[in-house]
Amino acid sequence: MNGLIMDAPLTITSILEHGEKVNGSGEIVSVTSDNPRHRYTYREAFARARQLAGSMAGWNLTAGDRIATLAWNDYRHFETYYASACSGYVCHTINPRLFPEQLVYIINHAEDRYIFIDPDFVPLAESLAPECPDVRGWVVLTGEDNMPETSLENALCYETLVAAGSVEFQFPPLDENAACALCYTSGTTGNPKGVLYSHRSTILHAYGTMMPDALGISRRDVVLPIVPMFHVNAWGNPYACPMAGAKLVFPGNKMGDGATLAALINEEKVTLSAGVPTVWLGLLAHLKSSGERIETLRRMVVGGAACPLSIMEEMDAYGVDSCVGWGMTEMSPLGTLNNSSASRDDYTEEEFAKVRLKAGRPIFGVELKIVDDEGVELPWDGESFGSLKVRGPWICSNYFKLEGSDAHEEEGWFETGDVATIDADGYMAITDRTKDVIKSGGEWISSIEVENAATNHPKVAEAAVIGHYHPKWSERPLLIVVRGSDGQDLTAEELLSSLEGKIAKWWIPDAVEFIDELPHTATGKVQKVKLREMYKDFAFPE
Ligand code: AMP
Repeated sequence: MNGLIMDAPLTITSILEHGEKVNGSGEIVSVTSDNPRHRYTYREAFARARQLAGSMAGWNLTAGDRIATLAWNDYRHFETYYASACSGYVCHTINPRLFPEQLVYIINHAEDRYIFIDPDFVPLAESLAPECPDVRGWVVLTGEDNMPETSLENALCYETLVAAGSVEFQFPPLDENAACALCYTSGTTGNPKGVLYSHRSTILHAYGTMMPDALGISRRDVVLPIVPMFHVNAWGNPYACPMAGAKLVFPGNKMGDGATLAALINEEKVTLSAGVPTVWLGLLAHLKSSGERIETLRRMVVGGAACPLSIMEEMDAYGVDSCVGWGMTEMSPLGTLNNSSASRDDYTEEEFAKVRLKAGRPIFGVELKIVDDEGVELPWDGESFGSLKVRGPWICSNYFKLEGSDAHEEEGWFETGDVATIDADGYMAITDRTKDVIKSGGEWISSIEVENAATNHPKVAEAAVIGHYHPKWSERPLLIVVRGSDGQDLTAEELLSSLEGKIAKWWIPDAVEFIDELPHTATGKVQKVKLREMYKDFAFPE
């Protein structure tokens, strides 16, 4: 017997309608290339999204066609998200930091029809256009007054398109399982793969992220997403904020600029922000040199990579509660969130220092398990390491245009490629990527824990550990370090002796190599494949 409840589809159009009716006076503030502080309301944003959609309706597109963006976090990008998804098209966000060959591959693989670009990216678009003949138009996200000179044959002006559409435009009814957004993951090997989100998965994920022990987004919040809208929809913030009625602050192309971030936090009274560790390092460096405070910021979520304890402790001193989050492009992205500070009373200081570094507890909607090499499930004892698998209604079941391939080793579970422990309270800790695991004498060494311990040295800016051939142990850890600005005199001996007592004795690396800069992927992760290649001829001292 079925329940007697209305079958109302979970669509992004319903967020737009709720946003314009219920949260219409909520504010969106943006840094853009043509205005350092653009501000307006959700009501105005969604009216413009309707106008844009009205113009797009004349483009002769069919449902499911891809509309791409190469853009920073700002209000026009936000409008494009809604205009395309609510029209039944798929908003394909492209990471501008990818290599040109990857961009060409992605645009052609996704069969993008139109690409919305920030004026900053016009030169990039000009170089890509000859290789992407099926793109019908490049829409520059600005007004006629600021349209740059361009050799793009089919360049269109965003504001002209908006002005030509009607605010009365009505979006079509949509199936909640229809695709709404597409984001390619940039693996370190092979071609990027597309993760295709649905309206339903996006809404459920947004609900999940809003929960108090997840990101905890309410109408009283002012949210600054420093996570890019081109990488997994800025962790769902552009959907959750209009659902809750929270004010949104978009940093535009200033995501890496500590001074602008501090100014936005203070002027707009930001309460909650999310970003990768690198962003927080930039903000902290600015706060230290300027002596500024960030009084309104209550909580920051750090994800995308392991967070060094030093960042958390420095943020503690500014009165900001830092919470680690873990997820993946394939998971929309949020999987776990570490809200251990909320239950801090239950931990001793020592326990808290350890638990707060973990990736956190799965939010409702995400199921986790860890398995050994034979696929046998491992206990949640905080000690056993295993391959981490996930499932749930916002987790990718297969990649775009690879539907026929065998993406999953085990039916119904997504293999994350991470190695993790889970403790009895459900706190998961990532110890490695499967392919980065170091096996010394048959035993696993967690490169992430060694990296955390090394980065906590005050003279270390960044550290990476790779497994390297050893005649006796088959592999031993090699620590590769970028010295901090006041760490030019740091020696290998000083660094290695600082690790004693912090990690297991046999995890202490056999050698340290100093380097000016670590290689990073387009999403800011250390490229271990490249590091292994760079150090392939290295030999450990006898
Ligand atoms: P992406 O799909 O580019 O967002 O990358 C997802 C991967 O980033 C995960 O599979 C993890 O390996 C890594 N990652 C994300 N968050 C964390 C975290 N809190 N700690 C350690 N690794 C993380």
